[in-house]
Amino acid sequence: MKTLDHWIGGKFATGSSDRKGRVFNPATGEQVAEARLANVADVNAAVAVAKAALPEWSATPPLRRARIMFRFNELILANEQELAEMITNEHGKTIEDAKGDILRGREVVEFACGIPHLLRGDFTEDVGTGVDAYSIRQPVGVCAGITPFNFPAMIPLWMFPLSIACGNTFILKPSERDPSCPLRLVELAHEAGVPEGVVNMVNGDKEAVDAILTHADIDAVSFVGSTPVAQYIYSTAAEHGKRVQALGGAKNHMVVMPDADMEQAADALISAGYGSAGQRCMAVSVAVAVGDDTADALVEKLTPKIQELKIGPGNGDDIEMGPVVTKQAQERIFSLIDQGEKDGATLVVDGRGFKMQGYENGYFMGGTLFDNVTEDMSIYREEIFGPVLSLVRSQDYEDAVDLVNRNEYGNGTAIFTRDGDAARDFAERVQIGMVGVNVPIPVPVAYHSFGGWKRSLFGDMHMHGMEGVRFYTRQKAITSRWPKSGVREGHSLTMPTMQ
Ligand code: NAD
Repeated sequence: MKTLDHWIGGKFATGSSDRKGRVFNPATGEQVAEARLANVADVNAAVAVAKAALPEWSATPPLRRARIMFRFNELILANEQELAEMITNEHGKTIEDAKGDILRGREVVEFACGIPHLLRGDFTEDVGTGVDAYSIRQPVGVCAGITPFNFPAMIPLWMFPLSIACGNTFILKPSERDPSCPLRLVELAHEAGVPEGVVNMVNGDKEAVDAILTHADIDAVSFVGSTPVAQYIYSTAAEHGKRVQALGGAKNHMVVMPDADMEQAADALISAGYGSAGQRCMAVSVAVAVGDDTADALVEKLTPKIQELKIGPGNGDDIEMGPVVTKQAQERIFSLIDQGEKDGATLVVDGRGFKMQGYENGYFMGGTLFDNVTEDMSIYREEIFGPVLSLVRSQDYEDAVDLVNRNEYGNGTAIFTRDGDAARDFAERVQIGMVGVNVPIPVPVAYHSFGGWKRSLFGDMHMHGMEGVRFYTRQKAITSRWPKSGVREGHSLTMPTMQ
């Protein structure tokens, strides 16, 4: 069985901890790897090399850093199949879905290729007589990224390429459940020309995370994961003087108006509710049907589509949905379904009984649909993070908007309608960070920014796009004047003004 090491100072490193985490294939339930779990000394070693690499790397012209990004992008593409297989093997999603995970990450690398332009500053001549002012953006320093299991390519690629393109050095701590893909990406970045020490990776769990959050030489932390951990990361890292962006969990609602094309809306709910077995932070987990006729039509159209989903191992032919990530995740989802039934929701399609022949130890389940879900139920309140869709019946459009706005999460939402007026009103009033109009999974492209509101994001700045560049840089404003030598102006104790 392979053992996954850390990557420190341009090479694999075993570190000094003897703790290891087990990595499973969710389709078979078999252990496929073990990953070293870093201790404080291992994190310290990674930070020390990242700090040492910083002066030279931050002084490297952005154009040269961009050339490495161009090569990195090509190398990810050349190794796409191998990376996708690693993802499927440890996460469970289908190979095609894994390729989507890689492509959405690669798009951020492509964005980072434009770093010379993105880092251009501003200059104003003569802000006062003979006085010029300019602003520049400089790297923050040593940055760290802590990532979740559900996008082992895209989310690490949201972080380290843009951070190092901005001139920072980086330490990645990926999820301990599927670390092979992130480790290979870091290796490929070095093959592309990233100098040693500029990107490092430690495998690990809470012990490694806490060492990162409290390390005096780490200047900024990016995090993506569940809300309780995001809040902990935000407060602990901020208390230790770091810049933090911590993206958390979600409960994404899709509002379906009575005038929507019901077939299109049902297909959208299937893609967004069951893709990646519902384990996307932008998965739709609540369908809000406006009016009983809409609800009835949706249930009628969704039921056969859910029953006909092609479920199986992610590397199988024509498979649409793989297993969920761990046995514990599967048990938790089943117990939430039990509770939904007890709370009085109508269980229209029950995925608990699904069995995959030949894969009896895999973490499979069928798609599940609940109707008549209400706000007080745990299936509504909790992020299930599995292939379970809850349908809430709302009386009218205003009720639907209020429901979305009352929810504690604010990651993504969508409205399906033919009415431009309603769509515009929804986009304007909804208290959510990412909104789709007839688009069920409105993940912004790399040159826009990704981030939620409310308890889906702690911190101010979103990922990638210009917000990402701002997060990974600090602005400096310089005011300069070159008076003729020998001219005497005297001194003044009043506030300097440019007159
Ligand atoms: P998680 O919070 O369990 O783990 C995320 C990271 O935090 C991992 O690297 C893990 O090792 C670390 N971690 C876990 N518990 C910790 C603790 N107590 N102290 C310190 N570090 C800890 O999340 P997950 O299960 O890997 O991922 C699923 C979650 O991520 C879902 O809630 C999903 O909504 C969320 N997510 C959010 C976004 C977004 O953009 N908002 C994107 C993807 C996933």
